[in-house]
Amino acid sequence: MNDDLKALIRTIPDFPKPGIQFRDITTLLLSPTGLATTIERMAAAVDGPVDLVAGVEARGFLFAAALAVPLNAGVLLIRKDGKLPGATIAEDYALEYGQDRIAIHADACAPGARVLLVDDLIATGGTARAAVRLLRKAGASVTQAQFVVDLPDLGGADLLRGEGLSVSSLVA
Ligand code: 5GP
Repeated sequence: MNDDLKALIRTIPDFPKPGIQFRDITTLLLSPTGLATTIERMAAAVDGPVDLVAGVEARGFLFAAALAVPLNAGVLLIRKDGKLPGATIAEDYALEYGQDRIAIHADACAPGARVLLVDDLIATGGTARAAVRLLRKAGASVTQAQFVVDLPDLGGADLLRGEGLSVSSLVA
């Protein structure tokens, strides 16, 4: 069903490091029909009312903002630590080598706000799981996550499901 979208995503070998097959969604963004179809299908997969769509820096912002409009939701930015101007809360997560830290504004969501997590791609799930921990620390109710691309061999979506989220993606 989503072969049309898959065809708009290209694979760039050896980016950003030798051996990595990078799924490049910039070609999907360049297609007006591809972008509109992506957002329509993501919107159709949303389960129940959503107050905020949380997007992960940087590609996640694009899909989160576009999806928030038909959902009548706001957009919550999950940024690399040090980029947000106000008081923040942060969460660390492990990378293959070393660690990284993401942050949100401490007052970005009201306790109990229904937040949908969105990113362009889930691989190991390290980023998304840290995002869920962060949002829950802020008091959000996070029960669903959506990705344009899932790399199922890396197991991230299953790990998120194990943490009680419903997870959907358009392209594997
Ligand atoms: P994870 O934390 O699940 O291992 O990696 C997912 C995060 O890294 C996402 O924020 C995503 O944007 C980025 N990422 C990792 N691999 C790729 C890839 O092949 N293509 C794209 N577009 N993003 C990737």
